Amino acid sequence: MTPGETPKASNFIRDAVIEDLRTRRFEGAVTRFPPEPNGYLHIGHAKAICLDFGLAQEFGGRCHLRFDDTNPTKESQEYVDAIMRDVRWLGFDWGAHLYHASDYFQQLYDWAVQLIKAGTAYVDDLSAGEIRDHRGTLTEAGRESPYRNRPGEEYLGLFERMRRGEFADGTKVLRAKIDMAAGNVNLRDPVMYRIRKTAHQRTGDTWCIYPMYDWAHGQSDSIEGVTHSLCTLEYEDHRPLYDWYLDALGIYHPRQIEFARLNLSHTVMSKRKLLTLVEEGVVSGWDDPRMPTLAGLRRRGYTPEAIRDFCERIGIAKADNLVDVALLEHCVREDLNKRALRRLAVLRPLKLVIENYPEGQVEELPAVNNPEDPSAGTRKVLFSRVLYIEQDDFRDPPPPKYFRLSPGAEVRLRYAYIVKATGVTKHATTGEITEVRCTYDPESRGGDARGRKVKGTIHWVSAAHSISAEIRLYDSLFSVPKPDEADDFKSELNPRSLEALSGCRVEPALAGAPPESRFQFERQGYFCVDSRDSSPSGLIFNRTVGLRDTWAKIEKGAG
Ligand code: ATP
Ligand code: MG
Repeated sequence: MTPGETPKASNFIRDAVIEDLRTRRFEGAVTRFPPEPNGYLHIGHAKAICLDFGLAQEFGGRCHLRFDDTNPTKESQEYVDAIMRDVRWLGFDWGAHLYHASDYFQQLYDWAVQLIKAGTAYVDDLSAGEIRDHRGTLTEAGRESPYRNRPGEEYLGLFERMRRGEFADGTKVLRAKIDMAAGNVNLRDPVMYRIRKTAHQRTGDTWCIYPMYDWAHGQSDSIEGVTHSLCTLEYEDHRPLYDWYLDALGIYHPRQIEFARLNLSHTVMSKRKLLTLVEEGVVSGWDDPRMPTLAGLRRRGYTPEAIRDFCERIGIAKADNLVDVALLEHCVREDLNKRALRRLAVLRPLKLVIENYPEGQVEELPAVNNPEDPSAGTRKVLFSRVLYIEQDDFRDPPPPKYFRLSPGAEVRLRYAYIVKATGVTKHATTGEITEVRCTYDPESRGGDARGRKVKGTIHWVSAAHSISAEIRLYDSLFSVPKPDEADDFKSELNPRSLEALSGCRVEPALAGAPPESRFQFERQGYFCVDSRDSSPSGLIFNRTVGLRDTWAKIEKGAG
């Protein structure tokens, strides 16, 4: 546990580990996180990472990072690097325990030979389509391949020749000889090896046959002495196959326990779909701030603490469900509320001229950096005759219950004075308000209303002292909670998921803010300096999340 975090709530997997340690079924807790380097990690992976690394940490064991790199056609070093960066960013460390399924290619090959010799594996000449046709259905047994019962020695020679590259891709596979009538289709002579004349990012051209995930996974766990192999529910039906392989080889059995994967509303989590969004340019990359990837969330302004807190709150269960993205937003809001410095930023500027404020005068007014954290101290904000306020904070005429600025009405300028609007200038043809004039009460410095009622407080920046910025407002990438349910998930994309505002004005204290630094723009939300792009407008800020918490409402409604 990282210092300062709350103790972990229990769950059935944690209970199982405790029980296994108590009964000495295992002497320690060794887990692994096994990503396939065919995409970037997403928030669902974070759930698995927090579980795998969290349990190892809690029970003084270790957690391996193992790349399941068995399919070189879809994998790359870029993904490997991104995955390592993201696991570290999330706050976890595999220490010396970095492994790859490809480390075991020779061992897996030798084991395959062992099974062939034992008469429990064979080389099949059926094509992929024919194998599928022979597999049968859930209610109907499969049919045996005509190549299943050749004399045993022949298979050894054929497998050796497959390895040497004598056969073309797809012309032969190695299969386990189990049972074509098995109720569990995973046991109907699963494919162990296929031919892929593709270089591998780690083993280069050494191999042209590659193990299937199912043939590699259980044995990799076994080789590494993993005690608890935690995986998502879809592998429950594969467990009998992993057991069959381990038994057939007579090697150590880890304990596999399955849990429900995280599904998050208003997004997709399949790597295939995320890759489509990247490749088709729907988003700007795997780290687009609208993506549910860890790289995207980081760029959006999420903290590792907020994501770990989220993973803790959703818990670990055995039944699939859909988590509302509002909970994730709630977690980051809570975290940033504690740590983000407050700043003034005007997103859509409207000029406010204080007619009775001396020209050329500049005042420094103290402003609190973070009311939640007194140690964050104060800063000085610069006040002058010409300011910018939000266009939204002035209305003529004002709608009912409007407590911001309108002709004749008073409003408090945050940290500064009370002002009263006295006039507006409108564009000659469009009628758009281009400037508001007001007077200020010099006695109200610091916002002191001196007995009168001033309901509204608005933010502002000094026109001459503020700096320009681009601010990107994000909304969810999909407009419906379950885009996966549509025939084409892309038909559910939210056309308003990004609104980029240029010409925003922010207080000078933000000048030089480093990439990834996070702030609360008062009355607006939490924002983070973009780490990738540059803009002629100056700094680029990504909106992490607005201030209004929709989760509290949802929770109340549900409870
Ligand atoms: P694919 O859909 O491409 O098979 P995957 O999401 O299963 O990919 P992997 O790289 O195989 O991706 O996942 C690594 C680990 O993360 C696995 O143990 C997997 O069970 C777990 N994992 C993946 N997605 C989720 C999710 N949404 N929630 C929880 N765990 C997940
Ligand atoms: Mg997978």
